[in-house]
Amino acid sequence: MTAEKIREIVSQMTLEEKASMCSGADFWHTEAVERLGIPASMVSDGPHGLRKQDQAGDHLGVNESIKAVCFPAGCGTAASFNRELLRQMGEALGEECQAEGVSVILGPAVNIKRSPLCGRNFEYYSEDPYVASEMAGALIHGVQSKNVGTSIKHFLANNQETRRMSGDSRVDERTLREIYLAAFEGAVKKEKPWTVMCSYNKINGTYAAENHKYLTEILRDEWGFEGYVMSDWGAVNSRVKDLQAGLDLEMPSSGGTNDKLIVGAVQSGELPEKVLDAAVARILNIVFCYEENRDENAVFDRDQDHELARKVAQETIVLLKNEGVLPLSAQDDIAFIGKYAKTPRYQGGGSSHINSHKVTSALDAVEGIARVTYAQGFDDKEDKTDDKLLAEAVEAAKKAKVAVIFAGLPDAFESEGFDRAHMRMPDCQNELISKVAAAQPNTVVVLHNGSPVEMPWVNEVKGIVEAYLGGQAVGGAVCDILFGRVNPSAKLPESFPVKLEDNPSYLSYIGEGDMVEYREGIFVGYRYYEKKKMEVLFPFGHGLSYTTFEYSNLRTDKDAMKDTDRVEVSVDIKNTGERAGREVVQLYVADKESTVIRPVKELKGFEKVELAPGEKKTVTFILDKRAFAYYSVRIHDWYVETGAFDIMIGASSADIRLTKEIQVESTGKIPFVYTTDTTMGDVRRDPRAWEIAKALIPKDLFGNEEEGSAASEAITEEMNEAMSRYMPLRGSVSFGGGKVSMADVQALVNTLNNLEDE
Ligand code: BGC
Repeated sequence: MTAEKIREIVSQMTLEEKASMCSGADFWHTEAVERLGIPASMVSDGPHGLRKQDQAGDHLGVNESIKAVCFPAGCGTAASFNRELLRQMGEALGEECQAEGVSVILGPAVNIKRSPLCGRNFEYYSEDPYVASEMAGALIHGVQSKNVGTSIKHFLANNQETRRMSGDSRVDERTLREIYLAAFEGAVKKEKPWTVMCSYNKINGTYAAENHKYLTEILRDEWGFEGYVMSDWGAVNSRVKDLQAGLDLEMPSSGGTNDKLIVGAVQSGELPEKVLDAAVARILNIVFCYEENRDENAVFDRDQDHELARKVAQETIVLLKNEGVLPLSAQDDIAFIGKYAKTPRYQGGGSSHINSHKVTSALDAVEGIARVTYAQGFDDKEDKTDDKLLAEAVEAAKKAKVAVIFAGLPDAFESEGFDRAHMRMPDCQNELISKVAAAQPNTVVVLHNGSPVEMPWVNEVKGIVEAYLGGQAVGGAVCDILFGRVNPSAKLPESFPVKLEDNPSYLSYIGEGDMVEYREGIFVGYRYYEKKKMEVLFPFGHGLSYTTFEYSNLRTDKDAMKDTDRVEVSVDIKNTGERAGREVVQLYVADKESTVIRPVKELKGFEKVELAPGEKKTVTFILDKRAFAYYSVRIHDWYVETGAFDIMIGASSADIRLTKEIQVESTGKIPFVYTTDTTMGDVRRDPRAWEIAKALIPKDLFGNEEEGSAASEAITEEMNEAMSRYMPLRGSVSFGGGKVSMADVQALVNTLNNLEDE
């Protein structure tokens, strides 16, 4: 529908109708205005399946929803590093929504994994904003290609569940820009999600819902977002203020209470009616965008989507460790041990919880591939070793040639609504793994979890497979990987620290009362571990394959560039093993010398490439200013410091294979403001300024020693320079032996500032 037509409809609406349009009709629908042909529009959770509630609505996945297909959760899909795959998954979700009459699916969820403890990490993609934003963009692209909207969430700085509705995330400007906003930015700019969901929490003292800076100035004015912003369920605190800040749709319905506030505010003149009109227009635009493109022929083919879920899961399973034990041979005696072999944990709790139409376990899937024995090993309802189950498991392991333990985190450990208290798996499972590994040298652990765990047994087992929360078809995909029917190709989109205390947010997570300070700043995940040269259990970007890849011939189309330019980077990848496989080629950029504090390197590109044995392909990346820039809080903009940068190509953040240097010249300017407090060292950075300043600053600033005296001889030119480096200009008054006045210094400052303006 054209903007003009929408405006016309809005002009025909009464004030009450417009106010009611700005909140849900119920838990999942927008209001209808029949006399004007405005239909109610349904939204449903997301993000990794359709949670459509026909009956009683709730936002915590308590009541039953329709039978649907549970795809791998965000923790896993991010590990695929495969945009095309996410696009396909998005298309399937879009088709499901069309078939079920859902206009917007509530996802993707891109919040940064600040701490491994966040209860919702399983829904989120990464500790790295580039990965989060790229994966989200791909999913959005897929869903919206079916004329169904997405709602990228939860905007902004919602990185824990503790006090999520009242917490105040205190984050500095640079950190917000480089990490937390960046997770949304690329996806919003490139893929134009139809809606954005604002989070519950406050950001630096102001609720996200009433934050004009983020909802309007950044999201709309800077990034060009044109859809509507909806509240997270119950995130509205001050309806009129929220509307003015840019929050269009309140969800769910407030039962009319808040609509009355809007009407009153317009009548009293507190709220300009045009603000309301603009919000209504944005909502209607999306409502009609969906309505006018409804696909009557769409079908929700659950079995077909189950197969897609399996395909997605194959690429989300990370092979963390393999000392010659995998792939398994179908001929061997194999014991499957652990409850999750029979009843996999494949999704997390809360609003993303899918009522799966079927679930394939590894035990189901292994039928027809190999004969295995099974022992339950543990019960995940309570963390207590069951001696009988343990003894049976050890016995089964001893009798077999290989033991595969299906372990992980129980439902009660991670869910929306609360955070984990520690990073450990249940003791009974850790004990089981150690005992089985002691009895069976060929032991493999398959993990079902949405977030990193400590692995006290890491050196006791030969293989570790991270299956994440792999969706309803996870069992089939795990068997595909275990038996080498599919070559593993996923990589960790997050670092696995050795222990929780190593995590950079550890000292300030989960805050004090409602106050949550992001004290680690930009040093989230690998940005911190690398800077600290810390050992991790498994590094960001890590993931093994059953084949090997050789990286060669890293080249750029230029060796030097201006920051307004782009550089093309190419590298050749060859499959040097005997199996076909996929490799995630990672590109990192390092600023070799910087006057600001920066991470060692940052991920700025990745491509997944498929190679037959012996095959070689060229992978190409394009880098622009943002790949080299940091966010300068002095100019409130992205800024590249002139100098040398390393472009690094690796198979993980800790496995850099090739490096090439490039010179980047800044075209931006950060004006330098001189004051009487400016240090002499800072003046020296500009030779012109120093020439002028030198005339005023006494040469014998550091003592009035007689020319030729022992003391004067002892102070060399270099020492004088080093010693005066941190001396403020006004120091000339204190130490200049009365030759310089404060007025002289002020005059110098003015001259230098004029020079800067030239
Ligand atoms: C969650 C959202 C979800 C909404 C609707 C909220 O509690 O934070 O992610 O989309 O409920 O279920």
